[in-house]
Amino acid sequence: MHILVTGGAGYIGSHAVVQLQQAGHTVTVLDNLCNSAEEALLRVARITGTAPGFVLGDVRDRQLLDELFADNRFDAVMHFAALKAVGESVRQPLRYFENNVGGTISLCQAMERAGVFRMVFSSSATVYGDPESVPIPETAPMGEPTNPYGRSKRMVEQVLTELPRADERWSVALLRYFNPVGAHESGLIGEDPQDIPNNLVPYIAQVAIGRLEQLSVFGSDYPTGDGTGVRDYIHVDDLVDGHLRALEVIRERPGVQVWNLGTGRGYSVLEMIRAFEQVSGREIPYRLSPRRAGDIAACWADPEKAGRELGWQARHGLERMMADTWRWQSRNPEGYRKG
Ligand code: NAD
Ligand code: UDP
Repeated sequence: MHILVTGGAGYIGSHAVVQLQQAGHTVTVLDNLCNSAEEALLRVARITGTAPGFVLGDVRDRQLLDELFADNRFDAVMHFAALKAVGESVRQPLRYFENNVGGTISLCQAMERAGVFRMVFSSSATVYGDPESVPIPETAPMGEPTNPYGRSKRMVEQVLTELPRADERWSVALLRYFNPVGAHESGLIGEDPQDIPNNLVPYIAQVAIGRLEQLSVFGSDYPTGDGTGVRDYIHVDDLVDGHLRALEVIRERPGVQVWNLGTGRGYSVLEMIRAFEQVSGREIPYRLSPRRAGDIAACWADPEKAGRELGWQARHGLERMMADTWRWQSRNPEGYRKG
């Protein structure tokens, strides 16, 4: 198939391009590089031996989209392009809604005009809000996401859910990611935050390499085993594997399907620190700090539905997630900017 990958220069998108190419698909990336570097796609080409098509542009640019869809016969779209910094979304809600919700609407309109009706969408476990219980199945009641970023994902899910009701040619996969971490085993591509990382694993990795001094552990009085927050960390390559399987399933099945992509097991912040120390041989200095506003105590997936319907399950354990993160970070201390 010929797949349009929006946000394909980003962290998860670049790993998706690798797997799509390795599975024999043709890939065109649309990315405005607002949170990524073209170098990522050069690295993808080193891994796969083939440069993906690349269009520098914005999913909100209707004219560009029409030209892109006129020039190519896409079979499906994997839509990763979005802004994802939770704190920034609180300060700039309009920017987040315009980019994430507005961008998806423009993209779907262009798809409709071009007669392309298959989309795999990057949603998030944040749509569950503060869960009543764990593990979380897809049928869990939708909670209230605690920030505009989370609400933008929820809104896009609502928009995409309407499409097959109006036109049965649409087939959409809503993939609810738990906590993607890790990097391609080559050490050539990985997560490259532009500013100080918001997320735990890139923060730990930058402490380990000496770019940051100390980790703040946000909250040590949660009702969890050791008092620190518990999350379902999933290797990015397992996550992407779920996308390729979802793509195959929605090819045959119109409508909207929702799948959790998680491992089904949670680790605490302190367990994550210990695992990273073991793999890297570096000490991670940390201090116990107050809870971060909007954080929940514990969140992990019930991945049974994805197992049953996609024939998918996460294969890589915590050690592999940490080893791949460390390989990427230690070989590219400044991310894509140097080295
Ligand atoms: P990322 O920032 O590395 O990748 C997003 C890419 O989209 C970037 O390359 C960016 O330049 C591009 N982009 C943003 N807005 C654009 C626009 N208007 N037009 C064109 N390109 C645009 O983020 P990621 O971690 O790879 O996340 C990919 C997707 O997965 C996002 O939708 C994100 O919300 C979702 N997601 C990520 C996580 C996570 O923890 N990383 C968790 C749940 C969901
Ligand atoms: N966390 C932390 N210090 C940090 C970043 C995160 O203690 O610098 C904790 C956070 O409170 C949560 C876990 O690590 O319990 C995962 O946080 P992340 O931001 O990576 O994911 P999310 O909260 O979005 O699930």
